[in-house]
Amino acid sequence: MLKYRVGIGYDIHKLVENRKLILGGVEIPFEKGLLGHSDADVLIHAIIDSMLGALGLDDIGALFPDTDLKYKDVSSVVLLKEVFEIIKSKGYRINNLDSNIIAQAPKLRPYIVEIRANLCKILECENISVKAKTNEKMDAVGEMRAIEANAVVMLYLE
Ligand code: ZN
Repeated sequence: MLKYRVGIGYDIHKLVENRKLILGGVEIPFEKGLLGHSDADVLIHAIIDSMLGALGLDDIGALFPDTDLKYKDVSSVVLLKEVFEIIKSKGYRINNLDSNIIAQAPKLRPYIVEIRANLCKILECENISVKAKTNEKMDAVGEMRAIEANAVVMLYLE
């Protein structure tokens, strides 16, 4: 058993009309939201993939297939809790987690404290960082057609 395990996660979703914008389990007031089979919480999806990667498991699409009606419009918080249970069942805990949300709009800074607190509660860990970036108006993210997220996690054997 490895004492420490590091994982990396990435995700991107399209920004569209008539969808809620949910990031890190927090609803953000905005005229658009992210398109996806679940609630399309791009930050939580990147975090989940970093955790599955750290454990050497298959990715989020394999664990929660978008062909499965069970996961239609499901809150990604539910999926994150399931993955955290897998981590604990293998004897691991979260050492620390770092993440980026890359969005040209809306301005996410006012929501970072709430997003971070929400993740800390779910993951039973204080060492969680969430950073908000723009894409300097470049590419799909910069043109407000998508929001992207990255995450790196380190797990330790309890
Ligand atoms: Zn996703």
